[in-house]
Order: sequence, then C-alpha cells, then structure tokens
Amino acid sequence: MTATVLVYYDMRMLGHNPHGWDPSHPAWTEAVKAMINLQYPGSNLETYTHPERAERLTAIVDRLMLEPIEGVRWMLPTAATMAQLERVHDKTYVAHIESLKGDSCWLSKDTTAVSPGSVEAACLAAGAGISAVEAISTGEARRAFCVLRPPGHHAHSDHASGFCLYNNLAVTAAHARESLGYQRVMIWDWDMHHGNGTQEIFYSDPSVLVIDSHCAAPFYPGSGLQSEKGAGAGIGYQLNVPLPLGIGNAALLKVFDEVVEPAAREFQPDLLLVSSGFDCHYLDMTCTMDETGFAMLTQRMSDLADELCDGRLVLLLEGGYNAQALADSAHAVVEVLAGSRVNACKVIPEDPSCSGCG
Ligand SMILES: [Zn+2]
Repeated sequence: MTATVLVYYDMRMLGHNPHGWDPSHPAWTEAVKAMINLQYPGSNLETYTHPERAERLTAIVDRLMLEPIEGVRWMLPTAATMAQLERVHDKTYVAHIESLKGDSCWLSKDTTAVSPGSVEAACLAAGAGISAVEAISTGEARRAFCVLRPPGHHAHSDHASGFCLYNNLAVTAAHARESLGYQRVMIWDWDMHHGNGTQEIFYSDPSVLVIDSHCAAPFYPGSGLQSEKGAGAGIGYQLNVPLPLGIGNAALLKVFDEVVEPAAREFQPDLLLVSSGFDCHYLDMTCTMDETGFAMLTQRMSDLADELCDGRLVLLLEGGYNAQALADSAHAVVEVLAGSRVNACKVIPEDPSCSGCG
C-alpha cells in the first residue's frame, strides 16, 4: 500500500561550500593548512575538496528524480528562526553564526567552516525538520525524509563541530515539544559517529529519549560511552550503544531488537525522529552496511511508529560521504517510507558482533 512521504529539500543548501574560497583568503591560515594536511595526508591544497560537499545532496536528489517513488511529495523547508534555534543553542552562539552571513571562516579545528552561503543553508537545514513535523501534525502525511546539509548532530549548544553548525534534529525535537504539544520524543541516531551535540543538548531532559549507536571511542568524536546515561532528571534517557569498527546490517538490526524496540515500548513516544547518517555503508569509511540494511531499519522504525505513535516518523540526513552510498541508501529508505516492504537484508559473515547491546 502506498503512503505519502514528504521529502524536504532546498537547493540553497548547496550554497554551503566549506572548501570553496580562495586559499589566499586570510582565514586560510597556516594552522588550517596544517590541520588539513594532518587529516587528509597528501591532499593538494589548491584542489582540496571538503568531504561535506554539495554533491552529497545532488546525488540523493538525482536518484529520487530519475527513479521516482510513488507517494513522494517534494516539499520546500522554511528556514528556522532565531527563536527556534535558541531553544537548543545559546543566544550568543546563534548571534555569532548570524553575523557570519556572506562571510568565510573556520569555526572549528575539525574542519567546520562557513562560506558566504552557509548561514542560509544552515537555517534551512535546521528548519527542514520543523517543517516536516508541522506537516505531520496537521495530518498531511505520517512520514518525512529531510535531505539536508550541513548536518547537525555534532553541533553543541554553544559551538560548531564535525561539519555541523546548528543541531537540526535537536531544533526539530525542541519545536515538537515546545510548540506542537508532543510529550515524549524519541530519537535514534544511527550515524556511524556519536551524536555528541544531541547528547549534550538533551542530557538532562527526560522528555527526549536519545538512543545513539556508533563506532566506539576513540573513533571520532570519542564520546558515547555506555556509562554516559544522562544527568539529573534525564538519567536513563540517553542510551549509548558503542559498536566495533566494521559493523554491518546484522549489528544494527540487533541494536534495534535489543535496545531501540524495548526502550520505545517503555518510553511510549508520541514522535519518532532518526538522525539518519549513511556513513556505515560499505562504500563510505570502514563499516559494512548496505542499502538493504538501511531499508530494514527504516521498516522496523516505521512499524514501531505505526504501533506507538500513529505512524509519525521523520528522518533527517546526517553524515555519509560517498555519493553512490548516499543515493542508494536514501532511495531505499524512502521506498520503505512510501510503503514498500522488504523481507530480508544482506548479512555478511564478517559482521562484528554487537558487543554493546543488551
Ligand atoms: Zn557520521
């Protein structure tokens, strides 16, 4: 049965070009050059291309356009307002980012930068999830997928990091809570990296359950230990599942079965959000998932949403740096959101065991 899926995308998000300014610009300091050489040994600074690049989105959009999926409705996001951003970010931080409109500079030693179009892109990325949950709240659809950049889950309340300026998913969850009347928002971050910004923002908040599966420290960003469980009233509402490098489809399905599903039944969310990075795809870094695994995870989350919260499920793009992996994964995920059923996913024998589960 076909379901409507709202797919949010705005080409102005392509205007964020963290690599795209003149290397003679004063911001392109010796320290920045040294940092790039450290992280990307042997890279030619004249042709250096930042991995978080516009092609990530155009690959996804091209695939969805060339192989259309029945039920998809393309939507334009509304940019997040400063007040909406300030629900999860410090006022001074938001003001600082706003002041960079039209400018270029490096914000963080882990290669988070802005170009003249970045602030507009970041506000649209942060607004995409808000637009999606608002549409879902009016009954326009039950599922949405936000094709966005810059990504968000490493953005803290008061600083940028890991290619992220604003925490798109946190801004979305806060809007759902504070403006749309949702009581309990549940997040699964299945990006390969720990969503340290999301964890920090909701660490003391029992109304937002954050489950984060990721490659274990010391892998970037080095946080997300099982012992990090929340603080104060939020203790027990941050569930970290550190996993070995190399994880594949079976490991992530095990995380769903042993952690996500039981936690959801206990928490009884009224909205499900996913920080959907595709960097665990085998074409990307060191992991071994493929698009059939992401499709299966999406199916499990869709079924859970149907059972617990009238189907309300919104996925926001996080990481993933291989264009083909992004296109294949996003297309597979949207097909499932639109009602296709998958019966199996590829399981490889070398999939490391899910050591963090249970
Ligand atoms: Zn990632």
